[in-house]
Amino acid sequence: MNAARRVRELRALGDGGPIDVLVVGGGITGVGIALDAAARGLRTVLVERHDLAFGTSRWSSKLVHGGLRYLASGGVGIAHESAVERGVLLQTTAPHLTRPVPQLVPLLPEVGRKQRALVRAGFVAGDVLRRTAGTSDAALPRSRRVAAAEALRLAPTVRRNGLGGGLLAWDGQLVDDARLVVTVARTAAAYGASILTRVEATSLTDTTAQLRDTLTGETLTVAARAVINATGVWADELDPSIALRPSRGTHLVFDAAAFGGLTAALTVPIPGSTSRFVFAFPAAHGRVYLGLTDEDAPGPVPDEPRPTDAEIDFLLDTVNTVLREPLRRSDIRGSFAGLRPLLRTDTDSTADISREHAVLRNPGAPITVVGGKLTTYRRMAEDAVDAAVARAGLSAAPCSTTRIPLVGAVSGATRDRIEASPLLIERYGSHAADVAALAADPTLAEPVAPGIDVLRAEFAYSVAHEGALDTADLLDRRTRLGLVAADRAAATPAAESALATS
Ligand SMILES: Cc1cc2nc3c(=O)[nH]c(=O)nc-3n(C[C@H](O)[C@H](O)[C@H](O)COP(=O)(O)OP(=O)(O)OC[C@H]3O[C@@H](n4cnc5c(N)ncnc54)[C@H](O)[C@@H]3O)c2cc1C
Repeated sequence: MNAARRVRELRALGDGGPIDVLVVGGGITGVGIALDAAARGLRTVLVERHDLAFGTSRWSSKLVHGGLRYLASGGVGIAHESAVERGVLLQTTAPHLTRPVPQLVPLLPEVGRKQRALVRAGFVAGDVLRRTAGTSDAALPRSRRVAAAEALRLAPTVRRNGLGGGLLAWDGQLVDDARLVVTVARTAAAYGASILTRVEATSLTDTTAQLRDTLTGETLTVAARAVINATGVWADELDPSIALRPSRGTHLVFDAAAFGGLTAALTVPIPGSTSRFVFAFPAAHGRVYLGLTDEDAPGPVPDEPRPTDAEIDFLLDTVNTVLREPLRRSDIRGSFAGLRPLLRTDTDSTADISREHAVLRNPGAPITVVGGKLTTYRRMAEDAVDAAVARAGLSAAPCSTTRIPLVGAVSGATRDRIEASPLLIERYGSHAADVAALAADPTLAEPVAPGIDVLRAEFAYSVAHEGALDTADLLDRRTRLGLVAADRAAATPAAESALATS
């Protein structure tokens, strides 16, 4: 995917034969649908008004999770679905972009008997969930209690005084959420889908779309046998018959040093709650992210939501209950917030609204897919394409995405033989060798700025193969340097140069 392919495919939109499936929205849901449809042999076009992963899909906690929290609220079906999809990502489709992460609950005196018993029971239930989903102990080890020394090895800044060990369970973690979106989109493009960023849908019916190229201002109308609206928290703008109730989740960004070399997801029970936690976890570019809040966010949906002061205080206060030296506001290097696209229900709290996905088919309107999460994107896509095939009477192969490795997927001994640094392999899988080959040019072998773990070769690769069209695409989505303002500023000249020389 690159600028030249975009122009070519945009031009061919009107005359490349009838479109079977037009997908609107380039978040994880939309790209998942594009892959599913293209792999079934359907002529597929995806339009995204900004960039891939511009919306909620880059503001997540980057967990591929087994759905334990849903189990706590009685959602056995969604918990099982999550655990199955986690296994598919870890073991088949994206072993290069996912890894097991230990989750540690430190047993300090503040964690009462009842809370400990509930966490332990939850972890054991998580083990059962994992086994019934067919994920082996080798892929995700079983939960256990660990001694204080082991807890401190995983989370060195936890308070020693009164520490009675920890409870440990394993879940899946993504190297980065936006990277998953871009990789799914590339896989869809490899199956023939047209992935067109900077193209906005201004109105939709069940078989037509008014589109606008946001780079040139040109407009066009396209017809498709089925139109799928996968615009997340913006879905009600294009299908007013649905009602959403977004909920904001906030994360703070720290230097890894602030958590002393944290290698687990440090999981801190929220005082007074039995099923909600705040957690700090290692993240890209030598950072630790601390999240997560769940706040009702009524009103107009902003392009980039921002955390409130109250949310920042809440996260700091909660994590500080378990740390030896409290973290302060001055330790924060950045922050981000995202809106969950939840369907409106009668319940009072967004924390209780179902996270299940819904495929809505109103007469004359597009098929709209909302809810769900990153972990279950493949299943959402399968359901949406099944609905499109049934509604439009399309002739299509059955869904095959449980067996389609994403671009760059590699594991085991083959991974060990790739001639590239571990950091590149973590980001690009088998294509790390292509990035390393670009870095054979000495001008591309340099980091994008001193002290930053991204090579100029990576920017060049993203422009040539990952559809990056401007500096923000490179800084905020192909990499996550933009989360820290100083890093963003330092890397901007390298991003400009990568685009100028492409
Ligand atoms: C704080 C937070 C933490 C989370 N953590 C996790 C987690 O750890 N694990 C997990 O599995 N899930 C997690 N989730 C859930 C997950 O992130 C979301 O469910 C998922 O990213 C939603 O993806 P989406 O594609 O439906 O929406 P989006 O990613 O928002 O994509 C919608 C896209 O549509 C585009 N668009 C909008 N209008 C138009 C238009 N008119 N024309 C063209 N394009 C348009 C937007 O620009 C956007 O790119 C989290 C969510 C939040 C908010």
